[in-house]
Amino acid sequence: MLPDFEHSNRPLTSKRCPYCYTHLRLNATHCIECRMKVGKIDKYGLAKKPISIKAYLASLLWLVLLGIYIWKVFIGRFMSDSG
Ligand SMILES: [Zn+2]
Repeated sequence: MLPDFEHSNRPLTSKRCPYCYTHLRLNATHCIECRMKVGKIDKYGLAKKPISIKAYLASLLWLVLLGIYIWKVFIGRFMSDSG
């Protein structure tokens, strides 16, 4: 069951921040509490999280760096074993 924030017959006059659940105006583009960007309202009364290409690239970069680190550790062990 869904939680009780779906009042389907009543037009919604506010949306909620998807990060901290603060009530915001329908046309708000930023949360007044946590300053995060928020999108349009979804069917549950929550603001959608706008897709941020910067955040996406940053997380991708961290994954690549982590992969390189693990790979270096693995290769380093292999090299020290054989030589
Ligand atoms: Zn917020």
